[in-house]
Parts: sequence; structure tokens; C-alpha cells
Amino acid sequence: MKYQTQNSSGFEELLAGSVIVHGHLCAGQVLGVRMSMLGLREIGVIDPKGKDRKNIIVFVEMDRCAADAVQSVTGCSLGRRTMRFFDYGKMAATFMNLNTGNAVRVIAREDSRQKAKDHFPEIENKYTAQLEAYKSMPDEDLFNVMAVSVTIPPQDMPGRPLRRVPCDVCGEHVQDMREVYQDGRILCVPCAGVGYYAVKDPPLAVRYAKKS
Ligand SMILES: [Zn+2]
Ligand SMILES: [Zn+2]
Repeated sequence: MKYQTQNSSGFEELLAGSVIVHGHLCAGQVLGVRMSMLGLREIGVIDPKGKDRKNIIVFVEMDRCAADAVQSVTGCSLGRRTMRFFDYGKMAATFMNLNTGNAVRVIAREDSRQKAKDHFPEIENKYTAQLEAYKSMPDEDLFNVMAVSVTIPPQDMPGRPLRRVPCDVCGEHVQDMREVYQDGRILCVPCAGVGYYAVKDPPLAVRYAKKS
């Protein structure tokens, strides 16, 4: 694959935009912006927030600083179903062109941390040195890039929900085929026993219950 250096147009501008979204400037923003620029370039997406906005989907593998940079640069978001989150705890993201089906996974190189420190030995603070180095290090020192294929099931695609069904236990509606079939019943994920919350007794919801 071909690489070009980071000083291709717009880096500073994209970084500034990302800092606004994220709330501060950090090494993760620099890395996330660089990662996104590289990923978009590799899949041939030039105008992710304009004419290409419906042709792109990103898969982020961490819910850390860099994820906000990916959102800011690509314009992809959870709410638009163009950003999918996989909780792998890795500094990596996949960029997919829905028009061509081409996808690349970009992962930050582990040795880039040390290289970054060596880049600016005069900067005492390791973190500041990293941040500055990430701005100027060549792509190939920062990232590994791999071509990947991704299959997106129809229920995960952007657009209108394919289905909407009530849960047989709690009555809450479930869309996008996230329901679970158990012992002849249709359940939502929490009622199937694998939710992230447990309802307290008595539930606060009684305050909001409709008076009959
Ligand atoms: Zn941050
Ligand atoms: Zn339920």
C-alpha cells in the first residue's frame, strides 16, 4: 500500500475540529485523526461528510479518545448507524466504503509509543513528546494497515428498522432484530437474562406510571 506523509492537506484543521468534539487536545486525538485520514484515503473516500456520507461505515475497537477523532473526521456516528463499536480494547478501526465494499483495518503500532518518545528527546514530558511526535511521524511508523472484508447483516445497515416487536415480559419494544427467542417467547436482551442493569424494587417508574 502507498503511504503519504501526514502533512497532506487539512490535518491541522481536522485536528482542531476533533478537539472541539472531544473537549481537549490529546495524543489520542492526533492518532485518531491520522488513523481516519489514512483509512479514508485507503478506501478512496474523499468527502466523508459530503457526497460520500452515505457510502461509508466505520468500526471502532475502543471507546477511548481516538474514537471521538474518528467520529469527527469521518462524520460517522452511532446515531446514524455509520459507526459501530466493538469492545475489543484495541487502538484500531476499520473503514469501509459501502460503494465498493473495500475495507481497511488500521491499527496503531505498539512500537510507535517508544519511537514517539525517541523523536523528541528534548521534551521532558513523555505525553507531550508523544503528542507532538504523532503529528509528524510517517504513517508507516504509526500504523499497520490490513485489507479486510466485512459482512454487514441487513438489520445492521443504516436506514429504517426492519422489525419492531414488543418483549413478552416487559412490554418494551425492540427493533432491528435484537429480540431473543426463548422457550417460545420473544424477549428483549435484558429480560433474557443478559442485560447490563437490574431494576430496583420498587422501580422508580411507578412515579411515571399512567394513572388509571
Ligand atoms: Zn483525550
Ligand atoms: Zn423485556
